[in-house]
Amino acid sequence: MPHRPIYLDHHATTPVDERVLAAMMPYFTTHFGNPASVAHQYGWEAEAAVQQARETIAAAIHATPEEIIFTSGATEANNLAIKGVAEAYITRGRHIITVQTEHNAILDPCRYLQSLGFDVTVLPVQPDGLIDMQELERAFRPDTILVSVMAANNEIGVVQPLEAIGTLCHSRSVLFHSDAAQAIGKIPLNVQTMQIDLMSLTGHKVYAPKGIGALYVRRRNPRVQLAPQLHGGGHERGMRSGTLYPPQIVGFAAAVQLAQTEMEAEADRLTQLRDRLWQRLQSLDGIYLNGHPSQRLPGNLNISVDGVDGQALLLGLQPVVAVSSGSACTSANIEPSHVLAALGRSNNLAFASIRFGIGRFNTAAELDRVAEATIATIQALRGVAIAGA
Ligand SMILES: *Cc1c(COP(=O)(O)O)cnc(C)c1O
Repeated sequence: MPHRPIYLDHHATTPVDERVLAAMMPYFTTHFGNPASVAHQYGWEAEAAVQQARETIAAAIHATPEEIIFTSGATEANNLAIKGVAEAYITRGRHIITVQTEHNAILDPCRYLQSLGFDVTVLPVQPDGLIDMQELERAFRPDTILVSVMAANNEIGVVQPLEAIGTLCHSRSVLFHSDAAQAIGKIPLNVQTMQIDLMSLTGHKVYAPKGIGALYVRRRNPRVQLAPQLHGGGHERGMRSGTLYPPQIVGFAAAVQLAQTEMEAEADRLTQLRDRLWQRLQSLDGIYLNGHPSQRLPGNLNISVDGVDGQALLLGLQPVVAVSSGSACTSANIEPSHVLAALGRSNNLAFASIRFGIGRFNTAAELDRVAEATIATIQALRGVAIAGA
């Protein structure tokens, strides 16, 4: 295989861990049964594997197995949570609170609900990416039914104060949903102490395959009502019809289990790699950290670079390192990331940003190469800018 760039885009997706793949393999071939087939051994085997996976994932977040609904990923889980709650609680109210820095899989369902007559308050964030708890408190209305705040941000890695948010929501008898796609397996999550009522998860950010995720739905104190968004055979206690996909489910659980077991040591390792990269990049002037310096995911470093063109920066880095930048190409034009805009970054600084997402298989030597290449690229681009001035 030709030389490929170093992969530092683990917030976009992760490779499947070989140990996860090994756990999945029997469920494609010998153990291929449909978990809904109650009449024979093939079905029982598949159902037993799914049940075991449900227990593993539930245990990782301090939930019960009956509270886990398998979905195709976090996008579907977010849609089910937001639209499902909106529909089920419409007689209680039509007001939802969320945040500017949420993933589009939250913001778009909210916009859709607005088009149906719901009211959505989209809270700003502070310059460090954290929500202001007093703003949240002021946003509650008598008709508020749901607050949705992500656990960890996919661009800037900022981890929101979930326990404080959950406590506030429950004191107002408002449901609390959290998109934890980036958080599962990376930081401790506890739906009890954090008072989370619904939580979206996905496999492919935590070394499981793409196309599998889950929604946690609280069954006690309070019991959350949810209107299904996929109707059919009544799978997942009627909340999400569709034949379950045992290889993916088994892989998801294996990945969560591995991440939980290795979490502490891996968080330390990633934090060291991340901090070393940041330290080296700071040898340059005009480099800014995006997001809170410590209240963030271990493997996340998001920086903006003054005095360079964002597109040129990304092009210059492409041969060496696979990273993402703070611009999203829509159909016709390039738009700055809505997350960096919410932090108050100018368009230029939002465009000239790099998201380094460090993962399980990255080494210190790789990070050193990336630091050198990034510094050299920025210096070269700035040199050009000065020469051309
Ligand atoms: C990746 C991601 C999603 C989408 O998850 P899929 O499983 O790819 O649908 C949603 N929210 C956040 C925060 C993410 O990082």
